[in-house]
This record gives sequence, structure tokens and C-alpha cells, in this order.
Amino acid sequence: MAHVASGDLFREALAKQTELGQLAKSFMDRGELVPDDVTIAMVMERLSKLDCAGGAILDGFPRTIEQAVALEKALGEKGLGITLVPYIKVSEETLLVRLAGRWTCRNCGAIYHQLFDPPNEPGVCDECGGELFQRADDTPETQRHRIEVYFEQTSPLIDFFKQRGILVEIDGEQSVEDVRSALLAAVARVRSGGVS
Ligand SMILES: [Zn+2]
Repeated sequence: MAHVASGDLFREALAKQTELGQLAKSFMDRGELVPDDVTIAMVMERLSKLDCAGGAILDGFPRTIEQAVALEKALGEKGLGITLVPYIKVSEETLLVRLAGRWTCRNCGAIYHQLFDPPNEPGVCDECGGELFQRADDTPETQRHRIEVYFEQTSPLIDFFKQRGILVEIDGEQSVEDVRSALLAAVARVRSGGVS
């Protein structure tokens, strides 16, 4: 399935100066939040591409109830819908430790962790040899803020999707391998018909 990350869509639309990218920029230039309908239009445009025909994994979106409601509506109009929402549950302490050690490849986007998944050579990507960097939003202060925003705006989505019967809770305190197998098992169950 195609991996559709809202952050990537944004960066791409801005870089390519697409119509939606320019529209988004006009809000950002005024110091305003980009309205949900602009973000949803970007996501829907991406989902109409050929590689999404067999389904897609949405990453980073929706983050609020309003966005989820609007996304459901937009998908419904195309005869599409959300079939699975994996909720990878971790404590705040674990989140902070993981975020603090995260490094991203400037070239290919591969993600490393200085404790749990270090590159063979510090600062260099195993996949492509690119330079690793810490995102500006990966500093301790911004992390605390992101976690606060999450609890305020995003955590209500847990109940929202639970009520729809499509939420699958995965224990995120486990090892990377165990989280991976739990996720794959959840996806396999949906593909063979229905969340259980
Ligand atoms: Zn790389």
C-alpha cells in the first residue's frame, strides 16, 4: 500500500508550487493555520493517484475530530472509507526518550534512533550515505509541546474511531519487531475481512 504522509504532501506542494501549495502558503505567510479543507484536498488528490488503488496508509492525518469527520465525508463521496486505525499506545516517558534520539536522513528520509536503531556510521545513512539530521521539531521543548497538543487535540480520536469499530490498540512499549508483527497481523486481519 502507498504511504501517504501529510507532512510530505505539504512540503512537496510548497516546493512544486502547485495550486494547493500556493493556497496553503498564503495562509502560512499570514501566520494562520492552513484550513482543514486545503489539507483534505491535498490528501484526496494524492489518494486519486494510481499507486493508491489498492489502498493507502495515512500518516500524520487526521489529527483532530474535525479533520476526521471531514476526511470521512470526502472519502465517502468517492465510495471509499477508513478500514483500520492502529493505535500504537506508549507512555509519555517512552515517547520522550524515543523522540529525543531520532535522526532523519536528509536525502532519503530514512529514520534512525541513536539508542534503538543506530546507523552503522554516526551521522551517515546506511541506505544511501546521506547526511543525518535532527528535525527542528525533535528538540526537547518542541517535543513536550507536541505531546501536549496531542493529548488535547488528537487523543479524542481514540474514542472516535473506537466507536466506529475500526481501532486496533497495539502495545507500543514492546520491541520494534513485536510492534511490527502486531501491526502486520492487524492489517492482515482487515484484509481477510473485518477488524477483530
Ligand atoms: Zn538515506
